[in-house]
Amino acid sequence: MGVSNEREEIKARVQQIQVSLPDGTAVPALGQGTWYMGENPQAKEQEIRALQLGIDLGMTLIDTAEMYAEGGAEQVTGDAIPSRRQDLFLVSKVYPHNAGIRKISESCENSLRRMGTEYLDLYLLHWRGNVPLSETIEGMEKLKKEGKILRWGVSNFDTEDMQELWGTDGGQNCAVNQVLYHIGSRGIEYDLLPWHKQHKVPVMAYSPLGHGGELRSKLMSNPVMTQIAEKYAVKPLQIALAWTIRTDNVIAIPKAVQENHVFQNAQAAAIKLKREDLEELDRAFPPPTHKVPLDII
Ligand code: NAP
Repeated sequence: MGVSNEREEIKARVQQIQVSLPDGTAVPALGQGTWYMGENPQAKEQEIRALQLGIDLGMTLIDTAEMYAEGGAEQVTGDAIPSRRQDLFLVSKVYPHNAGIRKISESCENSLRRMGTEYLDLYLLHWRGNVPLSETIEGMEKLKKEGKILRWGVSNFDTEDMQELWGTDGGQNCAVNQVLYHIGSRGIEYDLLPWHKQHKVPVMAYSPLGHGGELRSKLMSNPVMTQIAEKYAVKPLQIALAWTIRTDNVIAIPKAVQENHVFQNAQAAAIKLKREDLEELDRAFPPPTHKVPLDII
């Protein structure tokens, strides 16, 4: 198969797996993260190429934040994105200390300038800080009216935070909650994920490959993961990624700079885990049996 045919085939599989936002917009269940991009000028070209390859493979949702390399990751994203802006779904995040009514506009403007775009598809409160939720909602809704963002959401909100948000005026306009979720950290399955299903608000899973270091190595070398991976002729982390997006309510945003990683992540869209695989994975990585406070990095 030619290189371009192979890419088209992977892209078609990625495009088949979509998640619906509360307003009916469909986004790819597999996107791309950008944490740590923009920190090292020598790595910039490779980071840009990685994001562009991911876009070519259908992973057109890109997650970044004003925090990442203090705007550096947003700049890399801006340099990577093609002119067909309407084909992308760009997500950025505001620092909690900038999420008040006075600062949120300036933060958003700065993100837009760094990314070279006129609007964000989704703007998230990165985590809860001291600014009252009502004030952040007011700021987000104002940005929406001005056309600078199309929708807003939150990140690192546990179930009680979501309940409080739902009880706050305008809070039900939240489109997404981005939280840590991977097969080695399943705490949200006890109550947060069910809350999201019930309220039809998708979860965006960050660190879906376990982020890095020892935890990622453990996932890669787990005997059940390796055995299932062998069965599908893929790598264990591709199984971890396919597992994360096994339902229709979770979007995963793996970050990859190495080209082979980008390919592998996109190819995970084609893996359909069978019931017996999921049961084996449950035995190796048991789901929670009680409330677990939200895992955060
Ligand atoms: P991750 O995506 O779980 O893991 C990234 C690491 O895995 C990188 O070292 C990457 O290496 C490696 N990798 C990627 N694909 C691989 C593959 N197929 N095989 C082997 N290794 C692979 O971790 P993350 O960056 O923490 O999370 C993803 C994104 O979520 C972030 O980039 C960020 O956008 C977002 N996030 C949000 C929050 C929040 O508070 N809202 C917190 C954390 C993360 P290379 O880069 O060298 O390819």
